[in-house]
Amino acid sequence: MRVWGTHIADELAVDLVGLLRTAGFDSTAGKIADALTWGSAGPTLTPLDAECLLRVLRTPPAGLVELRALLVMSLRDAPGAALSCIECDCVSETAPGWVAIVVEDPDGVDAAGIATYCPPCAARLLEYAPRVGVYT
Ligand SMILES: [Zn+2]
Repeated sequence: MRVWGTHIADELAVDLVGLLRTAGFDSTAGKIADALTWGSAGPTLTPLDAECLLRVLRTPPAGLVELRALLVMSLRDAPGAALSCIECDCVSETAPGWVAIVVEDPDGVDAAGIATYCPPCAARLLEYAPRVGVYT
């Protein structure tokens, strides 16, 4: 089945369910167990599920190393886990009130990127008005 974008053997998925249950992550374990039971292509996992998976894969068994690597990359390095402001370099794990905008190269030469701004910079540069009540 596919878990977090990588293929893992059903036997390993069973092991994974066991690891998750042992650690108390029953919700994530249940999703994978259901996918096994119903023979679906793979569970639909949220970033929270990915976090749980990562925790039980601190020392991954052979065959789950790739899954761990993908989880680490998507949770630690991808935008969304920890945002850093392109203006002032401040960093936020939860990023309430942050603004991300897609920046496209007008000439179409470079791939579009995503620029993230902390609330003060967004307000200053983008005249972005955060949700009512967040800032007084
Ligand atoms: Zn900033």
